Amino acid sequence: MTSARPGVVYLVGAGPGDPSLITVRGMELLQKAEVVVHDRLLSDDLLMSVRRDAEIIPAGKSPDHHTLAQDKINAVLIERAKAGRIVVRLKGGDPYVYGRGSEERAACLQAGVHCEVVPGVSSAISAPAAAGVPVTERGVARSFSIITPAVGRGSPLSERDWQAAACADTLSVLMGCGALRSVASQLIEAGRDPLTPAVLVERATMPGERVVFAPLAEIADKADEEQIKNPAVLTVGEVARPRSSGLPMMGKRVVVTRPRTASYELIGGLRLLGAEVIDAPMIDVRTIDSRTDELVRAIKRRPDWLVCTSRHGVRGLFCNLAHAGLDLRALGGVRIAAVGPTTAAEFRARGVEVDLVPKAHRAEGLIQEITASATKDQMRVLFAAGTLARDELRFGLEDAGMMLDEVLVYETVLTGPTDRVRSEIENPSRPIDAVVLASPSGAKSWVEHSLPKHTCFIAIGPTTARAAEELGLTVSAVASSHTDAGMIEELLGLFVQKPEALP
Ligand code: SAH
Repeated sequence: MTSARPGVVYLVGAGPGDPSLITVRGMELLQKAEVVVHDRLLSDDLLMSVRRDAEIIPAGKSPDHHTLAQDKINAVLIERAKAGRIVVRLKGGDPYVYGRGSEERAACLQAGVHCEVVPGVSSAISAPAAAGVPVTERGVARSFSIITPAVGRGSPLSERDWQAAACADTLSVLMGCGALRSVASQLIEAGRDPLTPAVLVERATMPGERVVFAPLAEIADKADEEQIKNPAVLTVGEVARPRSSGLPMMGKRVVVTRPRTASYELIGGLRLLGAEVIDAPMIDVRTIDSRTDELVRAIKRRPDWLVCTSRHGVRGLFCNLAHAGLDLRALGGVRIAAVGPTTAAEFRARGVEVDLVPKAHRAEGLIQEITASATKDQMRVLFAAGTLARDELRFGLEDAGMMLDEVLVYETVLTGPTDRVRSEIENPSRPIDAVVLASPSGAKSWVEHSLPKHTCFIAIGPTTARAAEELGLTVSAVASSHTDAGMIEELLGLFVQKPEALP
C-alpha cells in the first residue's frame, strides 16, 4: 500500500532508561508518531507519551531472544513508512552505539524512505555517570573508548582489539555482562593493571539501579556475588573509583510507594540528595470515565462549589466533562476548592485558577474554610471523588449543612511489588532505611503484601500516619506541609540528625 503523503522513519535514541533522559526532539517525535517500533529495554513510561491511536510494535532484543529479526524490523519500518505513516524507531541509549541504527537507516534509504537520526544519551557514558564516575577527567583520563565482546559473534575480538581497548584511559564495555571474567582477563593480558579501578552499573538510571566497585581483577567475582545481570555497563580506568558525593542522603535506601505517575518529583528530589530510591508503587489510581451522566445531572443542580481532594479527582473530572462534550464553562461561576498545592497545580495546568486552598492541606481544613466562606445560598458542593478516603470530607460537609453531590471519577487499586522490587526491599545485606507513605491505601497495600513492618516510615500527613499506625506500622515522622517536599525535609531531618548513620 502506498500513500500520497511520504512516510518517514525517525531513529530515536531513548536514553539509558529514565524516561526523562530522552531528548526534547525525541519526545516531540514520539508524541507525533503513528507507529512506534521499540526495543525491549525501554521504560513503559516513555510509551505512555505515545498517541492513543498509534500502533506500538515491540521489536525487543534480549541477548538470546529476538522478538523480531533484524530484516523483519527493517521490513516493518519500510512498509509502514511507505504507507505514509510517521514511524519512530525507538532505541535504548543512542541509536548508533551498538543499536544497528546504521543498518536500519541504510535499509530505509535503499527503499527510498526518508530516515532521520535523533541521537540519544548512551549508557556507555551515562551508566558510569550514574555511579558518579566521569569518563574523562582532567589529569586522570583524556581518552575514552567503548567496546563489546558481543558484536559479530563468530568473529571474536582479536588480540589487537583488546590491546587497543586496554590502551584507552577509560573503557566502557557494553553487552559484556555474560562474559565479564573473560573481558577482565583479556584486558589484563593486553597490559591493563589488575588493580585498575572498575565499576559495574546495572540498570543505570532505572528503578533497581545497582553499582559495584572493585579492582579489574576482582570485578567478575564481585558481580557474581551480587548477582549482577544484564543490562549493565562495565567501566574500567583510574576514573572508576568510588567518590563521596557529599550529598546528605548518600548510601540511604528509600522506598517510594506512590503510584508511578505521581512519584517522579519525589524520586527525582530524593536522588538529587544522593539517596538510592526503590520505586515500589503500592497502589495504582485509575480514572473512571463512565460517570458522565451523573456528572451532568450534578452540574444541572448548579453547584456553588467544586471540590477536589487529589490531582486524580481533577483528571477524572476533566475526563468525564470531555466525554460529555463539555468543559469547565458548564459549571459557570462555580468556586473551586483544592485540598493542597498539587491539586491546585493540576487545575492550573488546565488554565484554571482555584479560589481556595486551605492553610492546612487536609479534609478538615477544606471543610472549615468552605463552610466559613459559604453564604446561606451557596450550599451546594460538587465533589469529584475517588473510591477511597472520602468519608471524612463527605460527613464533614454534610454535618456543616452543605448539600453534597459526589461523583466517583477515580478508583484506587492496591497493587503488589514485582518480584524484583520485593527482593530489593528484603535484601538482607542492604537493609532499607525508610519507606515513604503517601496515602492510607499505600500503607494498607504495604501491610497486605507482607512487606517489612520494622523499618522507618514517613507519612505525608496525619490521616496517612493514623492509618499506618492502625495497621501496626511505626511512623517516625509526618510531613508538616503534607507535600513531597515536606516528606523529603522530614527524611533529611532523620538522616542528618543521626550523622553516625551516614557512610
Ligand atoms: N544503544 C545503546 C546500547 C545498546 S547495546 C546505548 O547507547 O546505550 C545494549 C547494552 O547497553 C546492554 O547490554 C548494556 O551493556 C548497555 N545498557 C543499556 N542501557 C543500560 C542501562 N540502563 N544500564 C546499564 N547498561 C545499559
